[in-house]
Amino acid sequence: MSSQKPHIEIILPIYNEVKNLVPLIAQLDQVKKRLAPQASLSLLFINDGSTDGSTELLHRLYRDRNDVRVVNLVHNFGHGAALTCGLNYFSGDAAILMDADQQDDPLAIIQLFEAWKKGNKTVVAARGERKERGKALFQLFYFVLHKLSPTLPPVKFGTFSILDRSVVRRFLQLRERNRYFPGLIAFASDKITSVVVDRKERGHGKSRVGMFGLVHLAITAFISFSNAPVRLVSILGLAAAGLAMIAGFTIIAIKIFTPLAIPGWASIMTATAFWSGLQLLCLGIIGEYIARMYDEVKRRPMYLVDQHLSHKTSEEKTQEVA
Ligand code: UDP
Ligand code: MG
Repeated sequence: MSSQKPHIEIILPIYNEVKNLVPLIAQLDQVKKRLAPQASLSLLFINDGSTDGSTELLHRLYRDRNDVRVVNLVHNFGHGAALTCGLNYFSGDAAILMDADQQDDPLAIIQLFEAWKKGNKTVVAARGERKERGKALFQLFYFVLHKLSPTLPPVKFGTFSILDRSVVRRFLQLRERNRYFPGLIAFASDKITSVVVDRKERGHGKSRVGMFGLVHLAITAFISFSNAPVRLVSILGLAAAGLAMIAGFTIIAIKIFTPLAIPGWASIMTATAFWSGLQLLCLGIIGEYIARMYDEVKRRPMYLVDQHLSHKTSEEKTQEVA
């Protein structure tokens, strides 16, 4: 960091947030004013294929203000891809990652900044006692994930964080496409510091990620940070083989030593249904790994950039390595 005021760039992925943008920017401007004596803040919007007027609003914002940059993606690539694009385009002393739907409280930027200024390279907004949809499920997710992946830090956080430029540089070396962001941030960091921030309700509109997206993300988290699911398949297979052997011996013993009739239809059907269900489950678990491997070997870029609007043309990147 130079002796000048540090430059903090806020990276905001945008997918149809036109109603949230105006109040959000007003709040960010207040934060900017409060931090002005200590740091300069700029906004980097990654427009992830918005179709609701966000694009026009962002373009207007770019024309009116010189602390705004906009990267338009060719179409919608998803939250993780948009954030990764933001980190690729980032230029500053530290990056703040935050959602634009007003769930991440702009005022917490001050806490994040202060913790960063003390020398902490990665500071995350750990989730406080939030009242959010599906909270019990989230708790269960974190509990199981942290049991299965001891390398993950015990903090519960999403993406709201401040990353020192050195951490961003390391983060950009992680090339995988299936991204569980908190895990990757942890991987790129030597130490994670946290400040507790309550997550707010979304300002306008519905979550773009949805239940299906959350399940997908949860599976990605398990699979990319733990081999336990696929190991479970082998353990189940072994246990099944063991049980089948015991059952086989028992049947032979019954046949040889007792006059009992052949066991009934019901038990056979139950056993068949149980084992075929188990097999399907195991195939499913393996399939999840294969699907993600296929995704990785295709080596498609994570996102494609249509346009980069920047007042500092010298910093502009033309070729993106996603
Ligand atoms: N977002 C994005 N691309 C997407 C989905 C979401 O850039 O495909 C942005 C969205 O505009 C918001 C942030 O990512 O700024 C978080 O999205 P959302 O609130 O829908 O996710 P949730 O908070 O429900 O996890
Ligand atoms: Mg949200």
